[in-house]
Amino acid sequence: MKLLTSVEMIFATMTDHGLFVAIGGFVVGIFCCLLPFRRRRAGADGAAVVDQNQQLVAALHNMPQGLCMFDGEQRIIVCNHKYAALYGLTPEMVTPGTRRRDMVERIVANGIRFADEAPESYLKERTEGVSTSVDKIHKLADGRIIAVARRPLAGGGWVATHEDITELKQREASFQLLFDNNPVPMWVYDRDTLRFLAVNQAAVEHYGYRREQFLTMSLPDLQSVAGDIGGTELRAMEDHVGATDWHAKADGGLIEVAVYSRRLRYAGAAAALVSVIDITERRVAERRIAHLAHHDMLTKLPNRAAFTERLDATIERAQGSGESFGLLFVDLDFFKEINDVFGHVVGDAFLCAASERLQRLAEDNFVARIGGDEFVIIAEGPQPLTASAVAERLIGMSSEQLELQGHKVEIGLSVGVALYPADGTDAKTLLANADTVLYRAKEDGRGRACFFDPQMDSKIQQSHALLRDLRQAVERDELLLYYQPQAVVDGEVIGFEALLRWRHETRGMISPAEFIPLAEESGLIDPIGEWVLREACREAASWPQPLSIAVNLSPVQFQQRDLPQLVHRVLLESGLAPSRLELEITEGVLLSDSARALSLLRRLKALGVQIALDDFGTGYSSLSYLQSFPFDKIKIDAKFVRNLGANPQSSTILRAVIALGHGLDMSVIAEGVETEEQYRFLAQQHCDQVQGYLIGRPLPVAHYDAAVGRAPYAEPGRALG
Ligand code: C2E
Ligand code: MG
Ligand code: MG
Repeated sequence: MKLLTSVEMIFATMTDHGLFVAIGGFVVGIFCCLLPFRRRRAGADGAAVVDQNQQLVAALHNMPQGLCMFDGEQRIIVCNHKYAALYGLTPEMVTPGTRRRDMVERIVANGIRFADEAPESYLKERTEGVSTSVDKIHKLADGRIIAVARRPLAGGGWVATHEDITELKQREASFQLLFDNNPVPMWVYDRDTLRFLAVNQAAVEHYGYRREQFLTMSLPDLQSVAGDIGGTELRAMEDHVGATDWHAKADGGLIEVAVYSRRLRYAGAAAALVSVIDITERRVAERRIAHLAHHDMLTKLPNRAAFTERLDATIERAQGSGESFGLLFVDLDFFKEINDVFGHVVGDAFLCAASERLQRLAEDNFVARIGGDEFVIIAEGPQPLTASAVAERLIGMSSEQLELQGHKVEIGLSVGVALYPADGTDAKTLLANADTVLYRAKEDGRGRACFFDPQMDSKIQQSHALLRDLRQAVERDELLLYYQPQAVVDGEVIGFEALLRWRHETRGMISPAEFIPLAEESGLIDPIGEWVLREACREAASWPQPLSIAVNLSPVQFQQRDLPQLVHRVLLESGLAPSRLELEITEGVLLSDSARALSLLRRLKALGVQIALDDFGTGYSSLSYLQSFPFDKIKIDAKFVRNLGANPQSSTILRAVIALGHGLDMSVIAEGVETEEQYRFLAQQHCDQVQGYLIGRPLPVAHYDAAVGRAPYAEPGRALG
């Protein structure tokens, strides 16, 4: 029974230590010992017990570990063949009852001992008893590595398993060798804490962190900087094959890497083995190749392939957004001649210089070189304005001269423009149309830009020409003011509106409706508006009668910060009483930045001038404008007066606006009064003032000498002009 208790204990110990393999053999031992006893007791079952016993003995001798069990007197209870073979003993040398000392002596005599011990000490140590559990790895003098697990038995003996793990250790060592010496940077990291558990030499060298430093770091440290430029979160990078990421090296440099990662267990932790391949240089090379494939070697501009891609993408985007864009086909005039006369070196230098300028003048628009001296530009933005602005800048470059290796050459060019979607909705059509029109531009004498749509072309050409002339109009004294009387309903003229006229040297008188928008677009409205103001005030100040003078202001003039200052200066210069000046503005002034406009209006009003709201009833005519600023006057647009009689709503609207103005304490003037009926209706409705051909047409002031008091009044009242 004592033995049984020990067996149970050993059984438990071995289970604890995962030594299950030993159990079979161990049980065999028990049965060997108990055999005589069992035989006596078993009686009729004896044969079955013998069978069982033989099986257990077979199992004991065939287990992969050596097993040996000693009693309290250090005699063998049971020892299997494997144990004997491990130490060069014959089965007879390890029969039950053999003294352990004799067995050890034989082992030593066989030349087997611990690698680092003398035979005597080995013998001494080996012959001492065992009272505690021991797990040891022994290196034998012959190079074998034996894992030994010993467990004490209750009766003073012990049981031990011995296993030859030489091969396993060799395999482990070669794997370590493979990791350490792998030319590919590798590491193992803990998947929970993300800390590095092991790094190989290649990783240390490639990243530049010292090994000790590396082992205190975790994955985010490697990615911290790189994370901002699109690095992949490695936390989610288990079992990755070739995912790319950005890593920071110790010197702060960033590298692009392909990451290969596989989950494993390492030193008991859930870990992953990662190897990385630095693809930074490869990517640079790839980008260089892609750049070469998409760029022209000589000028460094995008080439035809890049242009085709870009045009397709632009069309696709425009289809989605409904926006238009312009395609400019540019051809350098006389390139062939330059090449022939000065040679290819100068020809190449010419192309490069021209490309550089094209790119500069095209500003943010895409420029490509698609042939010898052929370039294209994709101009995105409102059309045809954007395309014509780019074309105009390019044509402006035509006259520029280049100094190339001692030769003076002119960069002349012609431009053909096709607009999406008007002149084509696919790349082929657009390009063909731009090309067609380019040849027309060349035929027309080069140094020109032509639009595909001839109407657009002539409109743009005309407005370009007009704008060119307008720039000179102020200096050439081509601008003049006409004056149109404004009268109260009893017919007395109380003031004049100054209306701008342009006497063009070849085209005759041009309407402000035609050139004011051009002046506004080009910014010319500022000097022109200033001239009008100065001229009108100077003129009115010279009148013997203190009549009012109305001057129109463009919304664009309100972009100027110093508009009130300008008005103030002009009033001082002219000596005109501020109360005689009436500034006519349209609701366009209040439309964009009304807070700013209102503050300018208040400053103007503070000068003592009158403010009138012109063209009321057109546009939005929001009543909130009337509420937001105390206008002195509302000018009802001519269209309501014109429609009187024809359109019953007009009379209602006129009546309502007059009442509205009076309710708001503003006087009301009706524009475009041409007939007696219109006049009578307005008088009945108590409209304060009238302006129109019936009272007088816009004319040079000389026609109104009498009205302004410079000559006796010829005909009082209406129809002055
Ligand atoms: P507006 O300020 O509403 O001027 C009234 C327009 O109606 C003038 O056209 C005038 O000639 C016209 N008109 C006056 N009475 C009659 C009439 O009985 N029947 C008809 N059919 N028309 C009449 P105009 O002179 O061609 O000026 C057109 C617009 O150009 C003006 O409209 C004004 O907005 C602008 N404008 C004129 N001069 C200037 C200026 O000096 N500066 C600015 N910024 N704009 C100006
Ligand atoms: Mg006006
Ligand atoms: Mg008007």
